[in-house]
Amino acid sequence: MNYAGFDIVFQEIPGEVTLAINITGCPNNCPGCHSPHLQKNTGEPLDENVLRALIEKYGDAVTCVCFMGGDAEPFKVCMFAGFIKSLRENLKTGWYSGKTHLPDGIIIANFDYIKLGPYEKHLGGLDKPTTNQRLYRIENGEMTNCTEKFRYLYR
Ligand code: SF4
Repeated sequence: MNYAGFDIVFQEIPGEVTLAINITGCPNNCPGCHSPHLQKNTGEPLDENVLRALIEKYGDAVTCVCFMGGDAEPFKVCMFAGFIKSLRENLKTGWYSGKTHLPDGIIIANFDYIKLGPYEKHLGGLDKPTTNQRLYRIENGEMTNCTEKFRYLYR
C-alpha cells in the first residue's frame, strides 16, 4: 500500500482536526473521480514505521487520523487503524472508503468514523443533500449515520 502525502484538514470529519493520509492505487474508478491522481499506484510505501513517525510528529496537533482510500487493501487499512489506537488510545481513527459496503471481517471497533459510498458527481459530496455517500460514527460496536452533520456545519 502506497500513500501520496498527507494533510491536516478540518472538514472531512466534522468536529475533528484530522491528519488525512492519501492512499494511492484506488480501484474504484468512479466516473468523474475528484482525485484521479489517487488511482495510480504512486507515492511511498505506507507501513507502521511511517505511521509511528507521523503520530509522533502530529499526534498532539490532531484529534483524528483518517485514511483517505485504501479499498485495494481494506484489511491493511483496518490493521493500520488498530495500530494507531495501540499507539494512542485517545486518537480517533477514520476511513474514507469508496465502497458501498464494508468487506466481511473488517473490525469496525478499530475506527471511530467510516465514510462509505462511491463518488457520483451528479449527486455531490457529503455536504450535498442529494449525496449517495454516508459518514458513520462508530461507538460501542454500532455504526450511526452522521452525514447530516456536514450540512449543519458546512452549509
Ligand atoms: S474512490 Fe475517490 S479516488 Fe477512488 S475513483 Fe472514486 S473518487 Fe476517485
